[in-house]
Amino acid sequence: MGQLTLKNVVKSFGQIEVVKHVSLEVQDGEFVVFVGPSGCGKSTLLRMVAGLEHTSGGDIVIDGQRVNDLPPVKRGIAMVFQSYALYPHMSVYENIAFPLRVERASEEVIREKVESAAAILHLDQRLQQKPGMLSGGQRQRVAIGRAIVREPKIFLFDEPLSNLDAALRADMRIELTRLHKQLGATMIYVTHDQVEAMTMADRIVVLNAGYIAQVGAPLELYHKPQNAFVARFIGNPR
Ligand code: ADP
Ligand code: MG
Repeated sequence: MGQLTLKNVVKSFGQIEVVKHVSLEVQDGEFVVFVGPSGCGKSTLLRMVAGLEHTSGGDIVIDGQRVNDLPPVKRGIAMVFQSYALYPHMSVYENIAFPLRVERASEEVIREKVESAAAILHLDQRLQQKPGMLSGGQRQRVAIGRAIVREPKIFLFDEPLSNLDAALRADMRIELTRLHKQLGATMIYVTHDQVEAMTMADRIVVLNAGYIAQVGAPLELYHKPQNAFVARFIGNPR
């Protein structure tokens, strides 16, 4: 299960409201992409879902439980960032194993989960290498592996591909779509890249200055944008 409900979620920094009464239902297993220009509140929204930022108002509900006051590790969520934050002195194996070591999992469980994640991510041949030996795409996979071993109900991705070159981004889009099908987990994916949104999403949420401008399937937004902002952003300038 990985059902997420946002009800009137608000975030203010001082006097400035950067997330403005966002309400949304995400179904279990859905791939939802939040898209919008830089500064529209995408990361702030994701960080509130992850528990890295307090809400100023509203409810965040996961599988029927209000989680606003739960710490990140109790939410059944794993987040993957744009900067991979890998430990350079540790092997790929140990980088992926890290969250399990924090949870004091047994060596046997760790080996099983790391090897399974590595197989899914095509990192089987890299486990003994250090991150410095890897390409950008492989490093991003290690970061995703670290999320997978925690077996979260919901994956959160914050512009995970924006440090990669165009060819690698195209490959990773396909990889992530495959990963979603394979794991069947709920995925919430933040990007400012329209192509990522259009090709990966079950549904797209277009954010503009902290509020939801429109929610819908990619082709629905493309063919029936509700306003000029969505039309311009999704790229159908009718
Ligand atoms: P996005 O991820 O869509 O680019 P962010 O969620 O990072 O946008 O930021 C939304 C707005 O909130 C921006 O105007 C940003 O400057 C502001 N903001 C984000 N974090 C903080 C913070 N810790 N303190 C003050 N303002 C912040
Ligand atoms: Mg951001």
